[in-house]
Amino acid sequence: MTPRVRFAPSPTGYLHVGNARVALANALFASKHSGTFLLRLDDTDRARCRPEYEAAILEDLRWLGISWQEGPLHQRGRLERYAEAAERLKASGRLYPCWETEEELAFKRRERLRRGLAPIYDRAALALTEEQRARAMASGRRPHWRFRLSHGVSAWDDLVLGRRVVKLAALSDPVLVREDGTPLYTFASVVDDLELGITHVIRGEDHVTNTGVQRDILAALGGDPEAIRFAHLPLLVGADGEPLSKRLGSLSLRALRGDGIEAAALAAYLVRLGTAADIAPAGWEELVAGFDLAAFSRSPARFDPVQLLALNRRVLQALPFEAVRDRLPEGATEHFWNAVRGNLDLLSEARQWWEVVAGNIMPPPFEAEEDRAFLAAAAAALPQGAWDEETVAAWTRALTAATGRRGRALFRPLRLALTGEEHGPELKDLLPLMGRDRALLRLSLAAGDKA
Ligand code: GLU
Repeated sequence: MTPRVRFAPSPTGYLHVGNARVALANALFASKHSGTFLLRLDDTDRARCRPEYEAAILEDLRWLGISWQEGPLHQRGRLERYAEAAERLKASGRLYPCWETEEELAFKRRERLRRGLAPIYDRAALALTEEQRARAMASGRRPHWRFRLSHGVSAWDDLVLGRRVVKLAALSDPVLVREDGTPLYTFASVVDDLELGITHVIRGEDHVTNTGVQRDILAALGGDPEAIRFAHLPLLVGADGEPLSKRLGSLSLRALRGDGIEAAALAAYLVRLGTAADIAPAGWEELVAGFDLAAFSRSPARFDPVQLLALNRRVLQALPFEAVRDRLPEGATEHFWNAVRGNLDLLSEARQWWEVVAGNIMPPPFEAEEDRAFLAAAAAALPQGAWDEETVAAWTRALTAATGRRGRALFRPLRLALTGEEHGPELKDLLPLMGRDRALLRLSLAAGDKA
């Protein structure tokens, strides 16, 4: 059986790292098993869904390297399917009309809590007689519709979490259809999963209770709940152990991309996080080959921006010029990229090094007389003609011979004067890029000469 999976974001906001991890798991699972990955947009909640979020979600998924074989499919375009399914549930008595107002329900919840009972729906509407129902229908007020849950439990072998049991009796009968006739996600999702032949539902652990309910709805619709396997990925938590909330704008894919995180680093990080695998750079094929739902730990995974940044650094180091050329400062060459790529946490830092080799940074004069004399000597000894690594090595050797300085005492003042930084790419790589005129000017200024 070839798997069919779906990723089903709601276009009510930007994708964040939690969604992205679920999307990646679905895409990699489908790839690994030569299955189909379907993109679905859960957009029945008109008040909260926005077209700009939808466009952003597609763009962010593509940026992350995810492509889909089917979709995007919109739930809003399938309202008739849900209405038809709802009619079937009404006919079998599993979907029943309710007329309670929000205030009534809130009051009932408070009363139950006061009496020490779980604040679940009391099924009062289910107890209405035919006559009472007919009267309510005739009153003109439209009902919302609840699904009568089965007795007992819903249990399944989760592909990540292992055996899971949801006690249906401990839950409220869920509302599946609103007063205005629109379906809720809980329901629409089951109809889709059933009709679209989904074989594996891979999603976040926050949906475990939903799964218990949705398997019950699925059976009521004539589906076989055992025909769909479920996998719930444990949630991501922050350094403090608190769940990463969707509201954390800084962890949206857009924000991370804006900060300069590479898609390949983020993908590798999210897929390996919470598994025993090494957090190391990995291309898509490698991620596919190594993907295994059973490898995810059952406990929450800690999302650590510092770890992500370290991985980003390693990913940048391995990127060839071609992969970054469009995102480098105008004029930057392959030579430049090869010189600086080992020194970047974020690609945006390349701009600063471009200023060093092609711009006009000016070092302040050095304080110590000794250093100034050394830098003046270094300026005077700068080789003429074209430069390469060897010219630079010959220059520093000559400086050692003339001044006795070597190692840090030699390189630190040169580096500071030439780049304005304590650390960075090798001087032998930077100097040929910077050229003689810039080097001469900076050394002279640092030596205290009025240029
Ligand atoms: N739209 C739901 C969400 O974003 C989909 C959950 C599911 O995969 O069924 O949470």
